Amino acid sequence: MTKYNPVTEEVLEALRAAVGEENVKVDAETLDRYKTDEETDPHYHHLPEVVVLPGSTEEVAAVMKIANKYLVPVTPRSAGTSVSCGAVPVCGGIVLLLERMDKIIELNADAMYMVVEAGARTVEIQQKANEAGLLYAGDPCSAESCLIGGNIATNAGGNKAVRYGTTRHQVYSIEVVTPTGEIVELGSRLKKCSTGYCLEQLVMGSEGTLGIITKATLKLLPLCPYKIDILAIFTDVNKAVDLVPNLIKAGLNPTSVEFMDNNFVRAASDYSEIRLPHYEDGSYVIVTVETFNEDELDMKMEQLDEICTASGATDVLEADERVWKVRRNCLEATRLLSKVSTSDDLVVPVDKIAVCIEHLTEVSKNYSFKLFTLAHAGDGNLHFQILKGEMSDEQWEDELQRFHAEAYAYVYSLGGRLSGEHGIGAKKLPAMETYTNPVEMEIMRSIKHAMDPNNILNPGKVFNA
Ligand SMILES: Cc1cc2nc3c(=O)[nH]c(=O)nc-3n(C[C@H](O)[C@H](O)[C@H](O)COP(=O)(O)OP(=O)(O)OC[C@H]3O[C@@H](n4cnc5c(N)ncnc54)[C@H](O)[C@@H]3O)c2cc1C
Repeated sequence: MTKYNPVTEEVLEALRAAVGEENVKVDAETLDRYKTDEETDPHYHHLPEVVVLPGSTEEVAAVMKIANKYLVPVTPRSAGTSVSCGAVPVCGGIVLLLERMDKIIELNADAMYMVVEAGARTVEIQQKANEAGLLYAGDPCSAESCLIGGNIATNAGGNKAVRYGTTRHQVYSIEVVTPTGEIVELGSRLKKCSTGYCLEQLVMGSEGTLGIITKATLKLLPLCPYKIDILAIFTDVNKAVDLVPNLIKAGLNPTSVEFMDNNFVRAASDYSEIRLPHYEDGSYVIVTVETFNEDELDMKMEQLDEICTASGATDVLEADERVWKVRRNCLEATRLLSKVSTSDDLVVPVDKIAVCIEHLTEVSKNYSFKLFTLAHAGDGNLHFQILKGEMSDEQWEDELQRFHAEAYAYVYSLGGRLSGEHGIGAKKLPAMETYTNPVEMEIMRSIKHAMDPNNILNPGKVFNA
């Protein structure tokens, strides 16, 4: 276990010299703001000793050199929308906030790429691409708040991953500050490359443990002009999830396949002040199909309608913006129902998503907490929101531990893994140590040690380094 040093006046002086006095914050209000990300359970909160806001890659590198010299841990942070305690400074030290580095540097519509700083907001990148008639296909549901550096660090998924893949598939190259403070460009703007190890893919998704992303060259795609959103409503939840494999097999190539159980339908509809059909008893599957040609869209719409009806949908409606608003508000909605809740993100092979949701919903009935289920169903990726309500702390801890043990063992028995998109962060670190093959774990530890010999960067995340 690394023994870190406290942030002394000498360290603060060095940081001020590196990034400017106004970008080094130690006031109580700022420190308090960065003790958590989206985590609501105070047991996971941890105060940093200083918050530093660099304005350039060189300044990030200078901070990392100081951190290594004085043995002070660094937690990189973008918008702090992590739901796995990824941005919580669990070992104290420095929170390194990337939000000042927010420029969109270049958009080349002919060559279809965009160069951005890590602090650029995801929604602005999407809008900028759309204005040029192009698509940036990364689309986490938190796109309005999160930053591209956070998305790359977590390999964020979201609504469009079933068609376009996750964030790592949208990136040509990244500029990275290594844990020891070197600056390097990893990857290149190439369609293919077999030139040594694929280090950019190693850093992407490493949750800020192997490097700080400071810049990225993103891939852009042609924007489909035709689009339809369908809401398929089921009063039998099992039929709703069984729809998913039928959709995928039909070759519709959907852009989104999102599932919401009735607990989420009711909570998010109330929160959004929207009433959609079967509010009381419906589970929803939202399907988006996009095409480059109107006839193809008509054909796919007919096909979609037939498949949904044959799968047992009670209603198949064209979905408008209200449906997506309800979907986007799911997480926020549960916050009103319980001060403390926990999000879980699990992934199984796509053909196992139906059986997995059915089984774990049944298992949850042996517990007294309330379970809400969402899924990026076309990716095999399910999210549970578990609400503490008025339960005592002891009962909450006990029930969560037992449910997680049952759920994780089951997911692994299906060939699944602990996270499909939210990452391991600090929250699932013990489970990561339990469920990962020891040889795989040892390879990860060796890589971390080689790149971060002082274990300075984001310690206490993903696994015990
Ligand atoms: C309402 C809501 C909806 C969400 N929907 C989705 C979804 O659909 N799909 C999905 O994948 N996630 C989703 N999330 C989770 C979260 O938004 C994503 O993980 C997102 O990618 C985090 O981005 P951020 O900018 O907030 O990063 P942060 O939360 O600040 O950081 C996330 C992790 O990345 C590290 N990090 C941040 N910036 C950098 C950097 N520049 N270099 C290196 N490491 C860095 C941090 O240390 C931390 O470990 C959702 C969260 C909320 C609250």
